[in-house]
Amino acid sequence: MLRKFRALFFLIPATVAFAQQPSPTPTKPKPPPEPPTTVSSVHVDGPYIALTFDDGPHEKLTPRLLDLLAQHHIHATFFVIGENVAQHPEILQRAVREGHEIGNHSWSHPNLAKMSDDAVRSQIKRTEEAIIGAIASRPVLLRPPYGSLTTRQKHFIHDDLGYEIILWDVDPLDWKEPGPNIVSSRILKETRPGSIVLSHDIHAQTIQAMPATLTELEAKGFKFVTVSELLKLRTPVPPPTPKPVGTPATTPSAPVAPSPNG
Ligand SMILES: [Zn+2]
Repeated sequence: MLRKFRALFFLIPATVAFAQQPSPTPTKPKPPPEPPTTVSSVHVDGPYIALTFDDGPHEKLTPRLLDLLAQHHIHATFFVIGENVAQHPEILQRAVREGHEIGNHSWSHPNLAKMSDDAVRSQIKRTEEAIIGAIASRPVLLRPPYGSLTTRQKHFIHDDLGYEIILWDVDPLDWKEPGPNIVSSRILKETRPGSIVLSHDIHAQTIQAMPATLTELEAKGFKFVTVSELLKLRTPVPPPTPKPVGTPATTPSAPVAPSPNG
């Protein structure tokens, strides 16, 4: 009887301890996160941003933009359409000569997510060849039209075709032509360190918006780099800690989900 009691005595704490163990479900280790295949913005230690201009080159507007960027000593990134490159390789040559970066934005601006692998490959490779033909250098950045790709396509373009897929976190919706002042104010409101700013060098309003936009971004202390330079400046996101003294008030916040234009 005593032995039985003693056994029970030892059993009780063991049972309690077992009961206190958390159930297996919440502690199940999560699979490691997949390395991201797209970039919308980066974490940087400094006021660096990348301006990007899509859908050109445009015969008249892109040279006007290049004049403006040269006046401000700003380097930008142009995501070009293969068809337009074939028509104006000289504009691409000028852009590269003046320090800008060229990215691939497909041959004819289709929604790649709705196309076959072969068609997607053709859109990208044909544009790549046109860019190499113009500037003797292979693009390493790709922006899908409308920001639209399936997950499988993202892996295929990143892993097999060797592109960094670049989206954006600042979108002034300039393609809707809301007027230069609105384009400018939207960019100024949303841009943070590490931002990738989307706009289009095929809309006159966008070019009209740029003098004030560039001047005011400069006044806010932003430094302009190409997308590849911005990727090199990327620093790890620090764990959430109490804000140390002297941290600038302009820490980047979570990127805004891209809207489907591109
Ligand atoms: Zn586009």
